[in-house]
Amino acid sequence: MTDQPLLLGLDISTTGAKALLIDPAGRVVSSASTPLTLSTPRPLWSEQNPEDWWRGMVSSIRQALAGAGADGRRVAAIGLTGQMHGLVMLDSGGRVLRPAILWNDQRTGPQCDEIRRRLGRQRLIQITGNDALTGFTAPKILWVQQNEPEVYARCRHILLPKDYIRYRLAGEPAMDCADGSGTILFDLKTRTWSPEVLSALGIPAEWLPPTYEGPQITSRVSAEAAAETGLLAGTPIVGGGGDQSAQAVGVGAVEPGIVAVTLGTSGVVFAATEAPLVEPEGRLHAFCHAVPGRWHFMGVMLSAAGSLQWHRDTLAPGTDFDTLVSEAEGVPAGSEGLFFLPYLTGERTPYPDPLARGAWIGLTVRHTRAHMTRAVLEGVAFGFKDMFALIQGAGLGEIRQVRISGGGARSRLWRQIMADVLNAELVTVNTTEGAAFGAALLAGVGAGLYPDVDTACRATIQITGRAAPGADAAVYPPYYERYRALYPALAGEFKAIAAVVGA
Ligand code: ADP
Repeated sequence: MTDQPLLLGLDISTTGAKALLIDPAGRVVSSASTPLTLSTPRPLWSEQNPEDWWRGMVSSIRQALAGAGADGRRVAAIGLTGQMHGLVMLDSGGRVLRPAILWNDQRTGPQCDEIRRRLGRQRLIQITGNDALTGFTAPKILWVQQNEPEVYARCRHILLPKDYIRYRLAGEPAMDCADGSGTILFDLKTRTWSPEVLSALGIPAEWLPPTYEGPQITSRVSAEAAAETGLLAGTPIVGGGGDQSAQAVGVGAVEPGIVAVTLGTSGVVFAATEAPLVEPEGRLHAFCHAVPGRWHFMGVMLSAAGSLQWHRDTLAPGTDFDTLVSEAEGVPAGSEGLFFLPYLTGERTPYPDPLARGAWIGLTVRHTRAHMTRAVLEGVAFGFKDMFALIQGAGLGEIRQVRISGGGARSRLWRQIMADVLNAELVTVNTTEGAAFGAALLAGVGAGLYPDVDTACRATIQITGRAAPGADAAVYPPYYERYRALYPALAGEFKAIAAVVGA
């Protein structure tokens, strides 16, 4: 056993409190996770008790240290990450005032309209990089103001989920820029709270914590938290980042030109930028990156690999994904004119339309299940291409490399279709610990083990596989053009169908 320093990444997700210990080469030394549950006290509501986060995290930290056979002295620094956008309200004594309102809570539709009214939609997008969405923090604050005035009156501190863990670890409120920008109370350019947005929404600036860059030290573990967790009092804690930006650090999507794609149930595109670019219509999210002086675009497709899951469960139950996908190998690119629209649960990017619906279009008697499967893989890839087109249209330069992860990336065929449709080199990387890994790397920079985040990524992340665009890359452009024409042609009908079904 060596006395090599370790880095601790803490991830408070919706489903669990995770503690990950890595060494400076990026090897996982130990990891522990404590499950968390979600409460839905009313339709559209989604809440968790911050005390449960803390208890879960204490248990995971203790287990991770025990698993590494290490005591708190080995931990050089701590990085925090977690679910973004959740609202935690504390009173003057630091006591939690109400359950946290989470990212997937949908109660704030009217407050989003009000934010747009008060600031003007264009101005809001210009300052914060984003339109008002129910998931974000700002409309939740307004909701409490309007619906629980007695809670609002006692509020003195506003935090995000991972920053509540920081508060319990260190006893002081602080927040990082990446997660802070997800509140939409941030000025994207100055990377801190926007006086204009705060004053338009009547939120006191003194309720909001000081902000820091991802690898910057914000605070240190208190004696009280040390006793509870087994960590050493005084251990530095860095800013960290929301789960998306920390996950991007964890796969090395830190420089412009390297784009991270998650082909999971939903699909995410994350592209680092060197300037605070915004998509003028707010069709992409624009947030601060966890890397100092960098920002990022993000697009979310609601049913990515989820479309294949639905297809399999519905038309080929009991068939494993590899078998189903292998049937599609023999179908030519373009699926002989069969298209699939992946809007099975509505869509977010590029069409923020809850009424959008899925479809196969172009079916003939020639088409088999194999064609339908290939059309699903291609339709999802075209959906990603739509997000790439938006990002490039908003000013991102050349895309040199796509780093892919998520369950769908297990399929060789799907990776090749993605490389061909996106016309970019697609790679997989060795890191599989997600946001907690990225948070640990940010801690390593804060502790001085690496000079900067780029170096930390290069020292720890290796490419494990590559797919280069092949001959089909030249086949797809006219098919993509037809795919692109389908949603605009059908959007009115989707709305009309919803009205009929509703009636
Ligand atoms: P989540 O986003 O819910 O965390 P994952 O990233 O694990 O989930 O993705 C799960 C999805 O990945 C499945 O629904 C399926 O569509 C897809 N998937 C899993 N294995 C394969 C495979 N071998 N080939 C193609 N797709 C797969």
